[in-house]
Amino acid sequence: GNGGPVLSVENVDVRFGGIHALKGVSLSVNAGEICGLIGPNGAGKTTLFNSITRLSAVTAGSIRLCGRAIEALPARQIIQLGVARTFQNLGIYGAMTVLENVMLGAHHLTGGRFIEAVLRPGRARDRESATEQHCRAILEHLNLTGVADKTAGSLPYPTQKRMEIARALASRPTVLLLDEPAGGLTHGEVAEFGELVTRVRDDHGVTIVLIEHHMGLVMSLCDRIEVFHLGRNLASGTPAEVKANPAVIDAYLGRA
Ligand code: ATP
Repeated sequence: GNGGPVLSVENVDVRFGGIHALKGVSLSVNAGEICGLIGPNGAGKTTLFNSITRLSAVTAGSIRLCGRAIEALPARQIIQLGVARTFQNLGIYGAMTVLENVMLGAHHLTGGRFIEAVLRPGRARDRESATEQHCRAILEHLNLTGVADKTAGSLPYPTQKRMEIARALASRPTVLLLDEPAGGLTHGEVAEFGELVTRVRDDHGVTIVLIEHHMGLVMSLCDRIEVFHLGRNLASGTPAEVKANPAVIDAYLGRA
């Protein structure tokens, strides 16, 4: 690293036709931080993730990963450079096994050969052994070894969520973007999920940015929080600072 932030978003604008979804948004995340993004629906949080991963093109501003400008790179290259993400809606392959789902996350590391291995078992499998070992280690770490050979669709929802994190880790990311990871989990499951995210940060040395509406989780999990409102930065700080900020209470927390 260059000692600067791992992820740096500067004055990013995103427009969809007449909709100005992001208006000069900035974000700076240091190595090993867990940074929370909060704000009302439509504030632009998912659009920010989409710009970082190049699913949405930025109309102005810059995005840097470890100092390198990535805002104009294709999505595939951004993944290769170390950005992984999960989506608000699970994107699992229900008929494939947990191990196969996780190996798909590493697919760019193998130059796409894993797809071939799945479609034509026995042909390209041997070339995948290093990736498979890597993915099995991640499964072990996330307590998923017992279900490695089960079909993903047969698992309980919280286990599928854990599998999604495993799949994101399979690409060996520097930065992990989690879009509402606790959505749909029960109270008890949320606490357990928070512990998992902390463990992932501690053990994989990954920097984590998460969008989350579950305030209990955000406040207990995050080192720092950035608040968005109407496509702009509204406030940022530690959980305690953000919780006490009158502008944040007005725009967001006051509604809870
Ligand atoms: P939520 O908490 O509901 O996920 P959010 O903060 O993630 O909200 P975004 O989903 O980023 O908000 O949406 C920001 C704005 O951009 C909204 O007005 C939304 O309708 C608009 N928007 C997002 N994606 C597109 C798109 N592909 N085309 C047109 N408008 C879009």
